[in-house]
Amino acid sequence: MVQINENYLKLKAGYLFPEIARRVTAFAKEHSEAKIIRLGIGDVTEPLPPAVVKAMHAAVDELASRESFRGYGPEQGYAFLREAVAQHDFAARGVDISPDEIFISDGSKCDTGNILDIFGQDNRIAVTDPVYPVYVDTNVMAGHTGPADDSGRYGGLVYLVANEANGFIPDLPAEPVDLIYLCFPNNPTGTVASREVLQRWVQYARENKSVILFDAAYEAFISDPSIPHSIYEIEGAKEVAIEFRSFSKSIGFTGVRCALTVIPKQLVATASTGEAVSLHQLWSRRHSTKFNGASYVVQQGAAAAYTAEGRSQMQDLIRFYMTNARLLREGLESVGISVFGGVNAPYVWLKTPGKLTSWEFFDLLLNKAHLVGTPGSGFGAAGEGYFRLSAFNSRSNVEEALVRFRQLIG
Ligand SMILES: *Cc1c(COP(=O)(O)O)cnc(C)c1O
Repeated sequence: MVQINENYLKLKAGYLFPEIARRVTAFAKEHSEAKIIRLGIGDVTEPLPPAVVKAMHAAVDELASRESFRGYGPEQGYAFLREAVAQHDFAARGVDISPDEIFISDGSKCDTGNILDIFGQDNRIAVTDPVYPVYVDTNVMAGHTGPADDSGRYGGLVYLVANEANGFIPDLPAEPVDLIYLCFPNNPTGTVASREVLQRWVQYARENKSVILFDAAYEAFISDPSIPHSIYEIEGAKEVAIEFRSFSKSIGFTGVRCALTVIPKQLVATASTGEAVSLHQLWSRRHSTKFNGASYVVQQGAAAAYTAEGRSQMQDLIRFYMTNARLLREGLESVGISVFGGVNAPYVWLKTPGKLTSWEFFDLLLNKAHLVGTPGSGFGAAGEGYFRLSAFNSRSNVEEALVRFRQLIG
């Protein structure tokens, strides 16, 4: 008899986005005339930068002729892309990351989940609350947790609360932890970590021999020059941190798929014998065994984002979304709603008016204004009473959404 991985049975059934979809579909069925505006799921809406499209077309043409055809590429990614990343994302910010410390992949979602392959079973794991659900669910699947309680928290995980009182920057854990997931600029709260905050975390990790899993998927949206884009901008971070980056949000690659993971060579963790083992070596083995490389066409597209033309088009795209974020922030503030984030991140995190629960506010917005957002409680118990709006939308949708907010609340 075939046995299943029982850990999957611990996963909570009513996952956030399916539940949102269920409620929206039910509403749309009853109100076919309603023009529903979605400000919910964090997917981009605008087309790819022209320089990226051009590079991808050229790459397809290369594959179309025998002389320039390519099959399997290097599992770790083509040198042209890893070199561009090392140069523009790191060296340009004073950070020394070598191209062979960079692993190109087809997404950060998979990387943040797959990274657990190289860690042991008995690590104490800390996540923030609210949190990007992938970090939690992949730990549940890997058997690192007990069952969930009524609030949706899993036994065995250390939850670090991010709320208004701490400015959505969680305090350091009161107990020693081994693996720490951090995401800045943050999804869902849209807040960023200052240099001082990151220094505290790096110092904690060094003192406790922990590893920080740093998700920088939104670094391109930082406009404040004092905010670090990479955890490696903090001295000593290369001994304690893995960084994840993605082209999904910066150049609209959510459907194209390309991302990268940085594992510095000096980063080690301990074997049961007490021996220090290179995590770079383990990940390299894992990546080349279970992954056959991101597509050549896609990597050429990603590399085009580092050309002068591509860079400037990417910045236009980001400016467009961040203007949406500003409009949302200002529009909500003008009707008396408390908002957070939306300055260096494409998410606006708002406090529900009238002490409504996150789902009550969701239903109110859907039923009375035909607007869809994401209930904060779906990202964790500490997200209750909050709500996430995404700046990934057309300008006209954002403007129309604000008109409806004013009618509903103003
Ligand atoms: C969108 C997002 C990513 C990117 O995931 P991909 O698989 O690269 O599309 C990573 N982390 C967070 C927190 C995100 O919101």
